[in-house]
Amino acid sequence: MRAMAVFPAQRELRIIDVPAPELHGEHDVTIRVREVGVCGTDREIGAFHYGSPPAGKERLVLGHEAVGEVVAVGRAVRRVAPGDLVVVTVRRPCDDPECDACRAGRPDFCVTGHFRERGISGADGFMTELVVEDERYVVRVPKALSDVAVLIEALTIAAKAAVDLDTVLRRYPWEPAGSRALVLGAGPIGLLAAMMLRSRDVDTFVYSLEPAQSDRAELARSLGAAYVSARDVPIAEIASRVGAADVVFEAVGVSKVAFAAMAALARNGVLILSGVPGPGRPVEVDLDGIMRDVVLKNQVLFGTVNASRSAFEESVGYLERFMLLFPDAVRRVITQRAKLDDAPALLRRGGGIKHVIQLAA
Ligand code: BGC
Repeated sequence: MRAMAVFPAQRELRIIDVPAPELHGEHDVTIRVREVGVCGTDREIGAFHYGSPPAGKERLVLGHEAVGEVVAVGRAVRRVAPGDLVVVTVRRPCDDPECDACRAGRPDFCVTGHFRERGISGADGFMTELVVEDERYVVRVPKALSDVAVLIEALTIAAKAAVDLDTVLRRYPWEPAGSRALVLGAGPIGLLAAMMLRSRDVDTFVYSLEPAQSDRAELARSLGAAYVSARDVPIAEIASRVGAADVVFEAVGVSKVAFAAMAALARNGVLILSGVPGPGRPVEVDLDGIMRDVVLKNQVLFGTVNASRSAFEESVGYLERFMLLFPDAVRRVITQRAKLDDAPALLRRGGGIKHVIQLAA
């Protein structure tokens, strides 16, 4: 069967033939992959800046945002059945018996750093025809979501952030009401985070590079969010445009923008970081000012990386809700569907919001 592979040492990206995987264990599930989303991480791997093949192999099969159909199950499998639509989680636990996080089924909090991520580091991904996975990592999705289910993996980032945000908000002995949020970036993660915030009735601003008259700006406005273009308002002036934001959700991966936006962070505000900047030169920011504000205004700053099964399950619920609230906007996040043969070119190209590789109908 065919697969999209990256050969980091040879700096090559091509479609290869791989043997079809077999059901080995009684908890294994065989999935026919339907669609796989392409994200910034895939493009970084495709540019040979990130990622690593499985031990002993020179190539990595790409793809970690997968949706597919169950075609066979081991005899002890209970969570899914043939014919089910499913998504597959990305991160696999480390082997260290002392890692409480991995032993508790939360490899997103892995303390050793020796986890593997399918399609990213140390384990093959899903841009291929069939995959076999333990049922623990397979999450059932209602068929009504089939045309948008490929967004679930990206949505887990906002879903996990929401859980952590709620944990922070529990520090107040009162119910915080009428909150305001600023989302940095109108890529897939930023837009899904904006949907999450709007679905919770939060007054939301989306700040991004695209002009105020653009598809992404339109999409943000269709959620009931306000759109602010970086072309009209430099980041240094964001506070005067937005006012005080109780939550800033960063989805641009640019530290300078993330920390400059702290000028708009309210007293008791929370800055959530979800972007992963590539290595670069040190960036100048007013650290004393930031530290002063964080202390004197009780601000909280946290990073969030997706991965747990619970975040995938919650994302299924959120996506169902988004499809009731703003179905067109959800569909418009997917701007291109292409065939596996086009994957190498797609990985090298930017543009659009979410690109998807289709493997089976
Ligand atoms: C994936 C995460 C992963 C991260 C870092 C993201 O694109 O969604 O699952 O942990 O990359 O490798």
